[in-house]
Amino acid sequence: MQHVSLAGQAIQPSKIICVGRNYVDHVKELENEMPDEPVIFLKPNSTIADSIYLPSDEALHYEAELCFLIKSGQIAAVAFGLDLTKRALQTKLKNKGLPWERAKAFDGSALFSEFIPFEDSLSALRLEFFVNDKLTQAGSYLQMIFKMDRLLETISADFSLQDGDIIMSGTPKGVGPINAGDKLYGKVFTGDNLLVKKSWLAE
Ligand code: ZN
Repeated sequence: MQHVSLAGQAIQPSKIICVGRNYVDHVKELENEMPDEPVIFLKPNSTIADSIYLPSDEALHYEAELCFLIKSGQIAAVAFGLDLTKRALQTKLKNKGLPWERAKAFDGSALFSEFIPFEDSLSALRLEFFVNDKLTQAGSYLQMIFKMDRLLETISADFSLQDGDIIMSGTPKGVGPINAGDKLYGKVFTGDNLLVKKSWLAE
């Protein structure tokens, strides 16, 4: 089983629950319909990786996301995460009305910083994501269309949230392809305080 790190302790999430189309500007950039209920998909434990390996056959897109680790049905910790996506394949599958797993739930498609225990108000959380030192994505909790209360309610209606499961809460605008050699750098803040940062080198 793959693991993530919570305050230095290894945690094995059974699954990652991902939210699509949760920022207005991102819905527009992919020319999707505005959702009237949360768009949910899953990544299994096997998607978790430490490093970015670019496949030779198709470009991977980054999606920077605020990520929440669940304990006893509640948010216990927060992290920066990347929901890596085979965008061309996803578009093809979407257009045919087919499931997205091949584009979203492949090995190595979920990357996380350290998870930081978090009990404060979520409303001051925000993220920044840099590609080769250029600010490429920025988003705040308050910009999310569906907030965590609603997401937890919708998700738990269908899926048992087991301790260690992770919710990836959606990406703001600015998604794009990763090129070999790119230096990727993500940060999560609460207000002006940096909670956690993480960098990756795309190989
Ligand atoms: Zn995403």
